[in-house]
Amino acid sequence: MNEQMEEQNQKIQERLENVKHRIAVASGKGGVGKSLVSGLLASYLAKKGYSVGLLDADITGPSIPRMFGVAGIEGKSDKGILPPSSANGVKIMSLSLVLSDNSSAVIWRGPMISNAIRQFVSDIDWGDLDYLIVDLPPGTSDAPLTVMQILNLDGLVVVTSPQQLAFEIVRKAINMSKTMNVKVLGLVENMAYAMCPHCNERINLFGDTGGDILAKKAEVPYLGSIPIDPRISTLSDSGGIEQYENEDIDKIVDKIIENVD
Ligand code: ADP
Repeated sequence: MNEQMEEQNQKIQERLENVKHRIAVASGKGGVGKSLVSGLLASYLAKKGYSVGLLDADITGPSIPRMFGVAGIEGKSDKGILPPSSANGVKIMSLSLVLSDNSSAVIWRGPMISNAIRQFVSDIDWGDLDYLIVDLPPGTSDAPLTVMQILNLDGLVVVTSPQQLAFEIVRKAINMSKTMNVKVLGLVENMAYAMCPHCNERINLFGDTGGDILAKKAEVPYLGSIPIDPRISTLSDSGGIEQYENEDIDKIVDKIIENVD
């Protein structure tokens, strides 16, 4: 390891000392709502009074800043770059906030991604945080693995959707965490059901999806499910995801808090 990297590692360790808990959100595949769950987790934790940072490490689709309506960095302090804060005070950092051309990040290779993530921890003035939530790149390639290594995680939340409840895909993400010796805090099933706008009855669009059975088979906690809801996509697109209220999500977040401690 060269001197510069050693210096950076030390800086990363110093920053992480000010962060009580580090939780990453992973999925076996893209498009299942991993970024949404990262965003909701951060925003619900902030609503509960915790100080929260949200690191968007998913450069394949950096959607976090748009979800929270933040753009650009806040400037610098004597301790580093200041991340922008959402309406509820979530501190947000994403490659898309520092790249002038968002599309260029998608062609980055693994080492470039891990370098960028290292810098996001070492160079950003996160301040004291109760929780740092990390939206991992999808899949089980090198990129999520290096992020997991760098951040010395407390645990991993795995997200799936009914269409992709294929046991093997989720199993891979769970195996990845076991290989890395990272605790799986639980499985969240996104887009599992819809609410009828007329009678408010729950409609299981995909039948009985069995996320709970899958979690049991994989020997990880089942955290709950999130509905497919047009309000979610509207609020995500307009920067207002923090306004989304749902009791089930509140319960999911409480279980994650419990499983971390
Ligand atoms: P991933 O991070 O897994 O690639 P995203 O969180 O970016 O997936 O979600 C993909 C798209 O689906 C986004 O446009 C998001 O707003 C939408 N979406 C995700 N979950 C839901 C949901 N439960 N209801 C409605 N839209 C959703």
